[in-house]
Amino acid sequence: MEEIFDLIIIGGGPASMSAGIYAMQTKLKTLLIERNTFGGQIATTSSVDNYLGFQKISGEELSKKMYEHLLSTNIKICNEEVTKTILNENIKQVFTHNNCYKSRTVIIGIGTSIRKLGVDNENKYLGHGLSYSTLNDRDKFQNKCVAVVGGGNSAIEDAIYLSEKVKKVYLIHRRNEFRADRKLVEMLYEKINNNTQIELKLEYKPISIVGENEINQLKIIHIPDEKIETIDVDGIFVAIGRGADTDIIDINVNRNNSGYIITDEQMKTNLPGVFAVGDIRNTPLRQIVTATSDGAIASISALNYIKGNI
Ligand code: NAP
Repeated sequence: MEEIFDLIIIGGGPASMSAGIYAMQTKLKTLLIERNTFGGQIATTSSVDNYLGFQKISGEELSKKMYEHLLSTNIKICNEEVTKTILNENIKQVFTHNNCYKSRTVIIGIGTSIRKLGVDNENKYLGHGLSYSTLNDRDKFQNKCVAVVGGGNSAIEDAIYLSEKVKKVYLIHRRNEFRADRKLVEMLYEKINNNTQIELKLEYKPISIVGENEINQLKIIHIPDEKIETIDVDGIFVAIGRGADTDIIDINVNRNNSGYIITDEQMKTNLPGVFAVGDIRNTPLRQIVTATSDGAIASISALNYIKGNI
């Protein structure tokens, strides 16, 4: 007979793992689908220092602890990539490349995706000098010249870190004010005043990458006067934040103008039996603590939906 789950959780970040733990506690027949590694964004975060109970822990270690906790519940896990979902019927369908899984309820915990620069050939240079995941790549450019793009905490942290390793860092930001926390910006200016190799390029944005197989140069435009400059760089670190990418989610699930899934406080979407958790929902705060809370609430809501209580 065809297998129908009580709950399918899509994603393996903290919100989804928390949902999994609560679902197993409430004895829901649950399947969790994750295409890649568990932990989501925190798996590549160098250090977490604001999650209750852990004064300072690496993102990798925290992800591992969460994953081990999840496994201890004996939840059914499938390592496949979800390609499509049909969620506006009583029995929801979640498609992967090879399978179609069915369930009474679905929790969407797919997180956010990196934002790309949108310049020509960006994909071609990925892994050949261009990086979005700076943690893994930032030690590769000892004594070379690099550009960091962005003005948030990630970009400033990268620029400061890289300035101690590389010959020169160009920090390219589209405005003349940083979005990053004041403390970090102060650290940045302290570094610059101490003659480290950081050069600020404010009110600039990248327009094209130059190089055959590897990056040699970056063309940037000064936004106020549209003057184009070329800088010599061996690497480009793109740190311009993340956004919602919900292409795999049924078009009938309501999103806000920025593409985030709209939920109420019970994590319910507009479709009965469909819930969203963590960074992909319209939440005022995207942190591990709020994600794990969302996961717990969503699983209890799924249980209540199945019992006919909501
Ligand atoms: P973010 O805060 O969203 O900042 C993105 C930056 O990229 C902004 O300066 C933005 O410019 C710029 N940007 C966006 N789209 C762009 C485009 N198409 N072209 C050029 N520039 C573009 O992203 P984040 O720095 O990755 O941080 C994400 C979250 O993680 C934040 O909540 C942050 O506080 C947190 N975080 C915290 C720490 C820490 O506490 N140590 C470290 C890293 C990250 P505008 O400012 O002009 O919009």
